[in-house]
Amino acid sequence: MVSAPQQQRTYFTELEKDMPWLKDKAIITALAELKDLKFSPDDIKYLKNMGINIPYKSGADAVKKIEKQNIRIMFDKPTEKSIHAQYDFGKNIIIINEKYKNTKDFAVILAIGEAILHEAGHANDNDGDSSVQEELDFLGMNAVAHRAFLKKYGNIFSDAREPIIRDGVSLYEELFFDPDPDKRRLIERIKEKYGDLPSGDRMHPPGAIARAIKR
Ligand SMILES: [Zn+2]
Repeated sequence: MVSAPQQQRTYFTELEKDMPWLKDKAIITALAELKDLKFSPDDIKYLKNMGINIPYKSGADAVKKIEKQNIRIMFDKPTEKSIHAQYDFGKNIIIINEKYKNTKDFAVILAIGEAILHEAGHANDNDGDSSVQEELDFLGMNAVAHRAFLKKYGNIFSDAREPIIRDGVSLYEELFFDPDPDKRRLIERIKEKYGDLPSGDRMHPPGAIARAIKR
């Protein structure tokens, strides 16, 4: 387990001032890390060539949206226990699986930041629905964020056993940036997890990968 490095005090102070409801130290740390996270333009372009468009161009963009839309973030029971995080449209709340509550493991805290980023994507759409393309857009954004954390913190995730890392953020980085040009493993995974959703929607028209998943 890796502990958090000395945080950027300014982000902590800003977040505590802008979101007075926010008391949980793990969530504050996750948001401070997200707020400081820059995405690589090359990674964004790589996704774009795959037909994947990400809604936020940096972690700060997502945090700004969370503040503006007054989204609450808390640990709670998700509707299914295998879900890492979800956005409750009716309540405007991002829920993080309560099994990670009180974590001191910095790698898990970064993964929570990535989960918040993904759910802030759903919140941005202002509808309660999702689609294969919508999930591709937000999971692709996770992959870009994950690469930014890897660049910043090195091999921090490599020994992790927690599902939110091993079967979540680390896995999607591997699948989206798979050297296989046909992205067969990505297609299989998304089909298995999200294959019942429609291929696309108003905000996320389906690209070639989403159409391949629905075939
Ligand atoms: Zn999602």
